[in-house]
Amino acid sequence: MSPPPAAPARVLTVAGSDSGGGAGIQADLKTMLALGVHGMSVLTAVTAQNSLGVHGIWDLPEEAVRAQFGAVVDDIGVQAVKTGMLGSAALAGTVADLLTGLDVPVVVDPVGVSKHGDDLLRGSAPEVVRTRLLPLATVATPNLDEVAQLTGITVTDQEGMRAAADALLACGPRWVLVKGGHLPGGECADLLSDGRTERWYRAPRHPGRHTHGTGCTLASALACHLALGHDVPAAVGLAKAYVTGAIAAGFPLGAGIGPVDHGW
Ligand code: PLP
Repeated sequence: MSPPPAAPARVLTVAGSDSGGGAGIQADLKTMLALGVHGMSVLTAVTAQNSLGVHGIWDLPEEAVRAQFGAVVDDIGVQAVKTGMLGSAALAGTVADLLTGLDVPVVVDPVGVSKHGDDLLRGSAPEVVRTRLLPLATVATPNLDEVAQLTGITVTDQEGMRAAADALLACGPRWVLVKGGHLPGGECADLLSDGRTERWYRAPRHPGRHTHGTGCTLASALACHLALGHDVPAAVGLAKAYVTGAIAAGFPLGAGIGPVDHGW
């Protein structure tokens, strides 16, 4: 008889649901499946959403977030965590409580505003993310809107991304990946820094507009590659390659912005 198969690496996403299947928990779990890890989820909020935007948001009770997290960690165990949409200050604080003392890589994607301009981090939640969650991050992965929300810095060129990285590192994450995809130009350049070393990751800009779920996908792929044993610079390179492929394969769905594709 052959021995039982070894358990795959286990990765947990703590994030919101996108009913349209393009971003959030759904993008995270698709990425995890594609990268061969066992994906698990702690749902923070449910959104009614499609290719045109977010039509409603319902936060889950803090008790439900704590119960999901406890159930997964106590029995199955996790080798990396990714956080995404946290919604409210209360939930961001709850997630920070839960992650404190968990000794695995944590990727914090400080999801702030959707591509359609919907507010996914309300009230004083950005302050809680900045003061309580960023210090727990192995890597924080803000885009330039999130940089502005968290630090007040408006980045207009790649040089400005350096100052943004330094300002974010002062909040306490071990590494920061400042994503430059919102800058104009023919390439998408992201800057990884831990304050001592910096590394740029560059990819040609894909002309397609179906990019819903890009940030969730990158952060999830990064968590997967950290769980699989890569160091941070290598894991970022692999995650960037994954999301670049997923963007190139993005497809139309509904009347608005379609999702990136995980089957490329
Ligand atoms: N909905 C949820 C639940 C999300 O987590 C996110 C991003 O993280 C979005 C929507 C927005 O995705 P995008 O900005 O790629 O459209």
